[in-house]
Amino acid sequence: MNQNINFQSLLTLDVVDGLRETTRELSVQAYLVGGCLRDHLLGRFPIRELDIVVVGNGIEFARKLHSKLNSPSEFTIYKNFGTAMFRFQDLTLEFVGARKESYSRNSRNPKVESGTLRDDLYRRDFTINTLALDVTSENFGLLVDPFAGVRDIGLRLIRTPLDASKTFCDDPLRILRALRFATTLGSFEIEKKTFEGIKRNKHRLEIVSRERVVQELNKILLTDKPSVGLYLLDRAGVLELLLPEITNLKGVEEIDGYRHKDNFDHTLQVVDNISRVTKNIWLRWAALLHDIGKPVTKKFIPPSKWTFWNHELVGSKMAKKIFTRLKMPLNEHLRYVQKLIAMSSRPISIVEDSVTDSAVRRLIFEAGEQIEDLIMLCQADITTKNKKRFEDFYNNFEIVKQKIVEVEERDRLRNFRPPISGDFIMEHFNIKPSREVGIIKESITEAILRGDIDNDFDQAFDLMKKEGKRLGLLSDED
Ligand code: ATP
Ligand code: MG
Repeated sequence: MNQNINFQSLLTLDVVDGLRETTRELSVQAYLVGGCLRDHLLGRFPIRELDIVVVGNGIEFARKLHSKLNSPSEFTIYKNFGTAMFRFQDLTLEFVGARKESYSRNSRNPKVESGTLRDDLYRRDFTINTLALDVTSENFGLLVDPFAGVRDIGLRLIRTPLDASKTFCDDPLRILRALRFATTLGSFEIEKKTFEGIKRNKHRLEIVSRERVVQELNKILLTDKPSVGLYLLDRAGVLELLLPEITNLKGVEEIDGYRHKDNFDHTLQVVDNISRVTKNIWLRWAALLHDIGKPVTKKFIPPSKWTFWNHELVGSKMAKKIFTRLKMPLNEHLRYVQKLIAMSSRPISIVEDSVTDSAVRRLIFEAGEQIEDLIMLCQADITTKNKKRFEDFYNNFEIVKQKIVEVEERDRLRNFRPPISGDFIMEHFNIKPSREVGIIKESITEAILRGDIDNDFDQAFDLMKKEGKRLGLLSDED
């Protein structure tokens, strides 16, 4: 036990007073455990979640406290887990009765029976998560640390309290939790035996639901520098199981002395770059997947050129397969990611030369609402080490951004609707839905995008009349 650590800021929380009183009234022991103590010692504030272990009936305890605190928040019981939860002030409180667990081979859901505090701490995943702070009246403020968790937090070390291989075999979700903690807690190392346990049991991940897998992946992707976690996932052999499309990006091929870049390292750098400018998880996914079409489209064109022709479209189709496999949402988020991948090379092709208004206009027209995100992705995609090239590309994108603002003001293209509708054309020329209607609409759109006419009714009307005449259509005016 270690009593020299100052947990005052936790112990003086209003809710802890309530916990203390409830232990007295019910004659049970209760402890703050796990994440909140770990985060407190790491100075990771604010703490938003308190996990509470009660040696006894956790749900009954929670219910009593909920009414004592007059908390207006909902009281939720998770029957399957034997836990209860409610919110108080800006904290989420989770309650569980101390338990002992035993696992069977084909499920990560253990058989559970009630146990002592020690039993409960034994079942926890990593030593850094096994601290317990007594909030029972008699021992108020006493820290229980059976696995030297405080030491490991100080050493920034992730280590399982029990045999590593068994820990990960019992519940392979812990594999992802270890990799995630190593990333999100900031420069934590995974102890050697623990890492070996992860590698040995990586195939057990197949019993973890895809939704839980994605939750953990997303937590890694949402860190400030996701490449740390992604390289770690790769070193553990987990990335190739979950996202083989990403590990397939590895490697540099050379023909006749001509090499292409390593698209794995490149991709991870793009993810880091985008993460500096956005928290949008879907934009981060788009960055992660933006080059996945490259391995299958790769070709060497003699004498000197590597090409990945059409990899954007191929990659965008592959994204759908990944989302399906990982049970990710097949909705507007997928469509967004697919669109960004499919268009990921478009802006670069307009900054390679001088940037023209009409090219920018066409880009806005096709990218629509996603135009800013697409440009962000493209800027993140510049990973050349050549400083001059980097600056040229980067600055050209700044010009594109500037032009987007100007051209948009002039043309209002983002949610582009041609100023003249199909119905209007049919009525004017007194015709039924037909090829001619499409041709006229298309030529108006094209003329606006080229900059031949403004996005304006009168000019479009004149062009419509001209096109109608060309197609041999008559109107009442004729
Ligand atoms: P965070 O909330 O920041 O993700 P946490 O450590 O609080 O981190 P929770 O998922 O809230 O994580 O779990 C609370 C505690 O329960 C953990 O600290 C850990 O002791 C224990 N725990 C959670 N999941 C597992 C697991 N799969 N195996 C063993 N122990 C676990
Ligand atoms: Mg927690």
